[in-house]
Amino acid sequence: MVESRGATVPRWLKWLLWGGVAVVVVAAIAVGAMIWYVRSQMLDSGGRLRPALAAVDVRHVALEVAVDPVLRRIDGAATTTLDVVQPLEVAELDLDDRLEVRTVSVDDRDAAWRHHGGVVEVDLPVPWQAGERHRLRVEYGGEPKVALRPPWIDGFVWETTPSGAPWIGVTAQGDGCDIWWPCKDHPSDEPDDGMDIALTVPSDLVGLSNGRPVGETDNGDGTTTTRWRVSYPINGYLVTVNIGPYVPVEIPYHGVDGDRDETLVFWSIPESVADAERMWAQMPRIVETLGRRFGEYPFFDDKLWVAHAPYLGMEHQTLNAYGDDFTDNAYGFDVLLLHEFAHEWWGNKISVRDWADFWIHEGFGVWTEAAYVLDTQGEARYLEYMAEVRGRIRNAEPIIQGENLTSAAAYTGDIYTKGAWVVHSLRWLLGPEVFDEAVWTFLNDERFAYRTVSTADLEGVVAEVSGRDDLGWFWDRYLRRADPPRWSIERTGDRLRLAWDDPAFEMPLPVRIGDRIVRVEMSGGTAEVEVPEHVVVEVDPEGRVLAEEAE
Ligand SMILES: [Zn+2]
Repeated sequence: MVESRGATVPRWLKWLLWGGVAVVVVAAIAVGAMIWYVRSQMLDSGGRLRPALAAVDVRHVALEVAVDPVLRRIDGAATTTLDVVQPLEVAELDLDDRLEVRTVSVDDRDAAWRHHGGVVEVDLPVPWQAGERHRLRVEYGGEPKVALRPPWIDGFVWETTPSGAPWIGVTAQGDGCDIWWPCKDHPSDEPDDGMDIALTVPSDLVGLSNGRPVGETDNGDGTTTTRWRVSYPINGYLVTVNIGPYVPVEIPYHGVDGDRDETLVFWSIPESVADAERMWAQMPRIVETLGRRFGEYPFFDDKLWVAHAPYLGMEHQTLNAYGDDFTDNAYGFDVLLLHEFAHEWWGNKISVRDWADFWIHEGFGVWTEAAYVLDTQGEARYLEYMAEVRGRIRNAEPIIQGENLTSAAAYTGDIYTKGAWVVHSLRWLLGPEVFDEAVWTFLNDERFAYRTVSTADLEGVVAEVSGRDDLGWFWDRYLRRADPPRWSIERTGDRLRLAWDDPAFEMPLPVRIGDRIVRVEMSGGTAEVEVPEHVVVEVDPEGRVLAEEAE
């Protein structure tokens, strides 16, 4: 850069400077326009529940959808069976305005409706009373939102395989199910009785969806309809379709007790079959290892499939999306495959009811990667894996940023990395056995399994299993504050004094004293230990506790 010297600046340099200013202004406008455009491409999911949505409890959804790869449009109908919780005169569902509502019926009677602002309002012919069960059917169609950056900015992905065949998917974690079907777009309500999905695609393609395949009809017009029974509750964002010239890659799985006879299927595009076979060979070990730790894979009554997707990945229930490059990490497994699969427990078997608790899905998801290393390669390699995760923690905002949050508002990098370290630190605090039991209880107790959960539920389980109901300091400091806890160390003569920056924070510290590591209890946030003067001391040498040294 040239330093400006007033009148001595030659004419050509002035022009250059003004040119520079112009470039900066244009660039700023371009960046502003880009930010505006990206924002315009993101819809909300979750957040504060509108009264008309809070007034109903969804029991079942029958979704019929036909996907046209040439016109890039979808046409279908969603029939929602729901229990009325609060009296209602106008019912609501969410549906993106890009799609057009054609008819609405209530218990098979046509009803008047309006569709604006992403909401379908339905005038009920007879007001609904609490305790009643009703059926709301919405027929709709159009060109759905196209994903700008799946799976982060959602929508339909209209790709082609290397040989030019249509390769289609849809993601909805950030934008919500309402970008492609009329739904109650909120994580707190899952259809208790599951879903039935009918997917129609051109007959030369394979259409896949969630749940168990229960039938197939050749419609005689060049299209085929496949039917799917989702026999478990399912969160709206986990509903999906994958369409392509798929080829099944199969491998048997016999269960954690060796008494099952399951077939695990990866649906690959033809060009990737060799890669897919190589990767899929590791799947039985992954399923068994996670099953041993968390309880058997939760959806065997439906299926265990993974679809080769034209985007990176997403934890769609019983049909995870995998779109990575079939490369194993330094620990000998495909981390994208394992991460999405971990969500079959963390996100699918139990799903957060407020996106504010998003970290439960992602923190435990990332921690499960490390747990796989722990269970297959031992504690030292586990600690190495966690050390690598630690390098990506930012501490810029709290993991939980309030309540009634949208998915986009709750999404930060730290819900993954720092979330995993909260789990890791909890393991240190409780000890591995109590920790494992708490995790097992959270995933398998009937109060939580196949239901929606919250951080408060997890706190309750930990208190119950550990017998300690005094751990508020742990959750508050790690989840509700951005800055990590800091310890300080002072050594005078043979006295070693350790202190946390907050007396309420009582996390025990692992300290290496000479050649052994001791657990120093930090009651009142401090501790004093006697240490011979010449002995070397190191706080948390193995990386067990999410904390930093005070400056
Ligand atoms: Zn994830």
